[in-house]
Order: sequence, then structure tokens, then C-alpha cells
Amino acid sequence: MDRNDIPAGGQNMMQPGNDRNRKQKRGRELRSRAKMLLTAALAAAVVMVTVYFVGVSLRSEDLEGDGSDTFADSDTGTDGLLALSNETAANQTTETAPNDFYIGINYTPDTNAVDTSDTVDTDDVDDGGDTDVEPQPPAAVTPVNLTAEHEHKWIPATCTLPAVCRICGREGESAHGHVWSGPTCTSASVCEVCGYRGEGASGHKWIEATCEHPKMCTVCGETEGEKAPHSWAAATCTKPKTCTVCGATKGEPNGHKWKKATCTTPEICTVCGKTQGKAKGHTWVAASTSAPKRCSVCGATEGDKLPDGGKVSALKYDDDDVKMLAALIYLEASGSSYDGRWAVGTVVVNRVRSSKFANTVEGVIYANGQFTVAGRIASTTPSQSCIEIAKKCLDGELYDKSILYFKSSSSSKSWGSRKYCFKVGNNYFYT
Ligand SMILES: [Zn+2]
Ligand SMILES: [Zn+2]
Ligand SMILES: [Zn+2]
Ligand SMILES: [Zn+2]
Ligand SMILES: [Zn+2]
Ligand SMILES: [Zn+2]
Repeated sequence: MDRNDIPAGGQNMMQPGNDRNRKQKRGRELRSRAKMLLTAALAAAVVMVTVYFVGVSLRSEDLEGDGSDTFADSDTGTDGLLALSNETAANQTTETAPNDFYIGINYTPDTNAVDTSDTVDTDDVDDGGDTDVEPQPPAAVTPVNLTAEHEHKWIPATCTLPAVCRICGREGESAHGHVWSGPTCTSASVCEVCGYRGEGASGHKWIEATCEHPKMCTVCGETEGEKAPHSWAAATCTKPKTCTVCGATKGEPNGHKWKKATCTTPEICTVCGKTQGKAKGHTWVAASTSAPKRCSVCGATEGDKLPDGGKVSALKYDDDDVKMLAALIYLEASGSSYDGRWAVGTVVVNRVRSSKFANTVEGVIYANGQFTVAGRIASTTPSQSCIEIAKKCLDGELYDKSILYFKSSSSSKSWGSRKYCFKVGNNYFYT
């Protein structure tokens, strides 16, 4: 909205009835004042004569705007001379000299119906031809000091002009100022008293349409067009389709997509991950000599298998083999239990029996990178129990028939894919 949207006509269209009444009233007042002042005017005329004689040119007000007066011309109705200057050409031509205050002072009825000297924008359209300024007060008219000679006849103060004495031009009560109403989004500010237009319409302050309201002026609340569509967020397991802006909902939640509980996990939603209930827990089958404790449902294993010890064919061996194996058992597992030492001796014998390793006790024990203690065997005197365990193993009495590797239970070394069998003594054993 801009100034061009304001209806043309300006303040002259504001309150035609009031204007007319005011004008008529003012006219009556003026005529009665004129009569009362006739006497004063005659007296003034005497003074005027003097004025003429002293060469002072006092010119009457130009009622019709032909630029020949001392008072500023204005058709806006906002100055103190409204009633006179607003008179139509017709009224002016029929007005007789005795009805005018300025009787005797060069009064000449103006027959010019068109006032072309207006400097006030009355149509509020910026046509460049006018300056849109407020009417200015009349130039001071103080050629004559009539103070002592007359009672001031005040033309009341207006929004912009002080009261002025019609006779001597003296200023009285100050202008009281405009009383603005507005501006609003769509209309300019207007003086409630005189109808003068001030600041233009402020224009609407639009905000975009949302799903809650159409395009809307934040100042006056005026709306335009339709609401925007909702911004739907997809439904979830627990929430229906929901507008992210206003929270409106549509339809039903999707509901969870439950996946059954397993041995180790509770029932779980495959969409949102919510769980309910508890894991079923494993259904254990006890450890055997071939496998540790095992879940019959999921196949998980736990703990140690049972050793499947027993009698196998004795190796061919001599005293050196006994001493060598006994020293190895002593160096590797002297701190272990009897079974722990037996299991270490068993690993050596199982390797001799296996096709993957050397087929002699010496070959197995001194194989590259296998037993780090091998270098100390020659200088070690094994204990009697280690000698007995060594003989037992070489004779084919084994703790377990499949173990081929072991490591200290305190070692963090990984055996990779080797299959764990059990812990005995201070070592873990693998096949
Ligand atoms: Zn006066
Ligand atoms: Zn005003
Ligand atoms: Zn608005
Ligand atoms: Zn919404
Ligand atoms: Zn879910
Ligand atoms: Zn299970």
C-alpha cells in the first residue's frame, strides 16, 4: 500500500457537513462582528488615512488567492483565515463590502473562481506541482498600533496557527498543535481536529502464511490468501504423522515391528530399537570331552570341554627323552598342579603323534620358535615328579588326546583360530 492508494481529495473531503456548518457559523459570526466593528472600523479608517499619509501600505487580505495580500493564502482550512479564504467565488462576488472586515481597506471582490496559487497539497498525490507543506502563519501585520484603540477580536487559534486579532494582527493564544490519529497500515495519519494529513500509511508488515494462519499483517492482523499446507513428518512406531509446525496429527502410529527375543536379546523393535521383556537365556547342554558347555538353541559355548584322557600307544623313547621332557615340564609348569604338569607333557607327546610336527621328542622340543625354555633344558635338573609325569606321557597315558598348544593364563598372546579346550594348572590348552 502506498500513498497512491489513499483516496484523492484530502482534507477537504474529510467532513463536508462540518465544514459547511463551520463555514456558515463563521459567516454569521463575522457578519455580526462586522456590524459591531463597524464603529471601530470607522475609527480605524481614520487611522488608515493617517497610515496612507505616512506611506505605509497596508493591504487587505487577499480573500481569493490572487497573491496580492499580506496574509498567506490558503485553501486548506487549517489557518485562521479559513472562513474567509475558503469562500467560493460565487459567495465572494455576492459579498458586499459592509460584510467584510476589511471594509474601507481596498476591498475588491474576487471573481476568479480558480485559485491557482495554492501551495498546499490537497490531493495527497505527489504530482510535483505542490510542496505539501503545512500552511504558514500569516506574515506579521503590525503596521499600526491599535492596542489602545480597540478590543481585540480574536480569530481562534488552530492546530498550526495562533489566535490572531483581526483588527491589529496581534497574536494571542498559541497554536494548539495537531491531534494525530494514525497512521495505520492502510491510511495516512490525519489530524482529528483539522483533517490535515501527516505521515503516509505505514503499509502492512506481512509474515508468510503457515499452516496456522494465512499471510498476515503483524500490525493489524489483516490476512491474505490461504493457510500454507502442514509440514508432515512421517509417522513413527509410537507417533502418527505429525505437523512439525503446529503439531497437528493424522492417522495412526505405525506400531513397533517386534523381533522375537533370543537367548541373549529381549524382544526388540527393528525400527526404533525399543526392547521389551527379557532375553530367553541359553539352553545349555553340559560340557563333554569333545565340546564345552553348549547352547542347544544358538550354539553358543561357554567354559571348558572335559579332557578326554586315556591310553594310547607308547612312544619309543630312551632316558635322554625322559630327561628332556621332564626338564621341559619342570621349566614350563613347575608351579602348576599335577594335572597342569601332566597336560604340558601330553602336548609334547600329542605333537610327536601328529603329522604336523616332528616325530621325535627331541625334534618337537627343539623345533624353531616353539618352546622358549628349550635352551635351558641341558642345564636343568627336573624334579622327581616331573620325571614320573614324563615317563607316564611317553608310555601313552595322556591327560587329553587332542591338545597341541598351550599358553600361560597370564599371557595376553592370542592363539587366533586355535580351538580352546580348557584351563588346567597355570595354562590354557588348545587344539
Ligand atoms: Zn487587536
Ligand atoms: Zn490539526
Ligand atoms: Zn496491517
Ligand atoms: Zn501444521
Ligand atoms: Zn519401534
Ligand atoms: Zn543360546
